[in-house]
Parts: sequence; C-alpha cells; structure tokens
Amino acid sequence: MRLLLVEDDRMIGEAVLDLLRADGYAVDWVRDGGMADVALSGNEYDLVLLDLGLPGKDGIDVLRSLRARKQRTPVLIATARDSVPQRVAGLDAGADDYIVKPYDLDELLARIRALLRRSAGRAEPVYEYQNVSINPETKEVLVDAQPILLSAREWAVLESLLARPGMILSRAQLEEKLFCWKDEINSNAVEVYIHGLRKKLGAGLIQNVRGVGYLVPKA
Ligand code: CA
Repeated sequence: MRLLLVEDDRMIGEAVLDLLRADGYAVDWVRDGGMADVALSGNEYDLVLLDLGLPGKDGIDVLRSLRARKQRTPVLIATARDSVPQRVAGLDAGADDYIVKPYDLDELLARIRALLRRSAGRAEPVYEYQNVSINPETKEVLVDAQPILLSAREWAVLESLLARPGMILSRAQLEEKLFCWKDEINSNAVEVYIHGLRKKLGAGLIQNVRGVGYLVPKA
C-alpha cells in the first residue's frame, strides 16, 4: 500500500516515515500544501496522513482540493489536542478520521489499517480467501493454517490483490503501491514478486490477464 505523508515538522516527519516504512508501506513525504497538491494530482495513493497546520496552503485547503477533484483517497488528519473546531472542519471537508497530536504510533498504525479496510469495503480485520489468510496487523500469512514467510514486497502485492478480489491491477498500479519516489524500479520487479507468491501460495491464487494485469478472482 502506498501512503502520502504530509507533515512540515521534520522530527515528526522522519519518525512517522521510518515507522510506516518499517511496517511495510511505500511512503512519499511532502512538507507543504503545494507539494501535497502536486503529489495527490499525479499519483494514486491508498491513504493520506495529513497535518493541518502547513506552510503555504494549509491542510484543510489541500483536502478541499482533493475532494473537489473527486478523489476518494482516504484521508486521516492530524490535529492539535485543543482544536475541536479544526477537527470538525477537517471531517466536514472530507476527512475520514482524525488523530490528535502528539499521537501514539501504535494508534496511528491501527487507524491507518482501519481506514484501508473500510476503503476496500471490508469490516473484518483478517483477509480470508479460500485456503489463504493474511493479517495486516501481524503480517502473518497462513496457507492451509500453516505460516508462510513472504518478503515485504511479496506481502504488499498479495495484500493489494486480496483487498479487492475480482479487481485487476495493472503492473503500473502495483508498482505505484510498492515503490515510492526515491526507489529505482526494476522493469520486471512485479513479475518477480508474483512469481515468488505463486511458488509459495500455489499457482492458482493469482491470475494473469495477459496485457492487462493481475487479479485474485472473486471467491
Ligand atoms: Ca504542522
């Protein structure tokens, strides 16, 4: 899953960036509202973590612009403890949830998982599909109740496909979910991860629609 972190405070930004990357997300970090606009207009993110107090264009205006473009990306706003009006304004401008600064990092990860779940139209925290089950919190993957070890990027491919069975993701879309700006992308990287997943999970789970992309068929 690919996230955009919008945060002007360098210390918070670095800490959150490290945390999210360690948890397996591909993350781009921008520090002002103008750059957030550029990033959101040009990329497909699975979620935005948006600080509201930003230099230049503030977070609420970034959010309004995003919703005015009809982009449905889930938005988690970060607000100051004493600012109820700011939270209300953020939610009414189209945010999906808020977290109060300074926030607990475990709570941040849990709120992100909850929003990703809801945006995929799910309520249950563990994805179960045929004989495969994956847990976004623990990153545990079970096949026939036996634990399987995946690399971080194999995990990311599998989670993206299992989040929406029946939906085809193109190689470019999967690359967007796996890599952030600073990464160099090897042209056959996605094929390599798919190959690894098929070896570990069985060849039937992930299907290739030639020239279009990959999917996990609807159960
Ligand atoms: Ca700020």
